[in-house]
Amino acid sequence: MPNRLDRGFLKYQDELEAKALEVLRSGWYVLGPEVEGFEREFAEYTGTGYCVGLASGLDALWLAFRVLGIGSGDEVIVPANTYIASVMGITINGATPVFVEPDAYYNLDTSLLEAHLTVKTKAVLAVHLYGQACDMEGILGFCRKHKLRLVEDCAQSHGACFKGQITGTFGDVGCFSFYPSKNLGAFGDAGAIVTDNQEIAAAMKMYRNYGSEKRYYNKVVGANSRLDELQAGLLRVRLRHLTALNEERKILADRYSHELDNSRFILPQVREGAESVWHQYVIRTKRRDELITYLEQRGIGTIIHYPVPPHLSEAYACLGHHPGDYPVTEEYADTVLSLPMYNGMTEQEQEFVINTLNSFA
Ligand SMILES: *Cc1c(COP(=O)(O)O)cnc(C)c1O
Repeated sequence: MPNRLDRGFLKYQDELEAKALEVLRSGWYVLGPEVEGFEREFAEYTGTGYCVGLASGLDALWLAFRVLGIGSGDEVIVPANTYIASVMGITINGATPVFVEPDAYYNLDTSLLEAHLTVKTKAVLAVHLYGQACDMEGILGFCRKHKLRLVEDCAQSHGACFKGQITGTFGDVGCFSFYPSKNLGAFGDAGAIVTDNQEIAAAMKMYRNYGSEKRYYNKVVGANSRLDELQAGLLRVRLRHLTALNEERKILADRYSHELDNSRFILPQVREGAESVWHQYVIRTKRRDELITYLEQRGIGTIIHYPVPPHLSEAYACLGHHPGDYPVTEEYADTVLSLPMYNGMTEQEQEFVINTLNSFA
């Protein structure tokens, strides 16, 4: 029983199939009316002035830093326990990631921010990991005090709020991924940024299409990060149901929290004022390997998000970090486990997971 993404399709099958056919028959496949419609509706959903559709979440991140002019010689503060794409969004531009340990909610520990500030610090990348909003009061205060840019990685937090404000709207740019497993998932790769800044939105549109505003007249060396009509159309269908999809995840998360035997596992906590859209339900246990095998033998699939923290990844050996540099992050990497959690998971399926977990001796 791994995460069943087909359930999320079957739930809205008629609407999705109708939209797919409509797009296929339209004769317009990249950057057209569906993309414009999605951009308008996602800007509305987030309450921002502009949304720009892109090809992936990674593109949203690196293009955000590119447009903000952050690159070689600059430092960007980023949580050490994030998905590696957050870090790649920084390093693709030649900037240096400065890792900060997470708090008990798996997000940036804001009490450590000041200690990581240098004359080279230009921005903070706040990652709302596992669906829970970061301590945005602490992060915003720090950014304002030191005149830093703020970019948010909302790849896991579509719709999550901090004190009533939706994630992606606190800083200069909010970056989203619509990879199929995300809370708002496409049926292939897709991403977007949201912003209130007209110039940032215009620059994004230029960068996503080879740096051109006018066809075949190129102002900058851009990228091909265009969103296609099929994904945009399907995302519009899903977006209409996002509130219900997130509510369904909350019911699943609450059931886990109430029925799992606390003493065996460290369960996720929700910060006061923060809200989670439960992209993942992550527990911790020192006996992880044993537990994974035990669950596997009973047909229950789990995933580790993430087994290797970016600072210890082979890809970032060049940064010169060593085991022990970020002990909280490393302890999380060694003990976290994401339980089955997907839209369309039945109560019966979840009870089986819960009972199996609770009988782990
Ligand atoms: C999924 C994800 C990304 C990358 O998104 P893609 O669409 O796969 O490029 C970035 N950051 C985080 C935290 C993610 O979970």
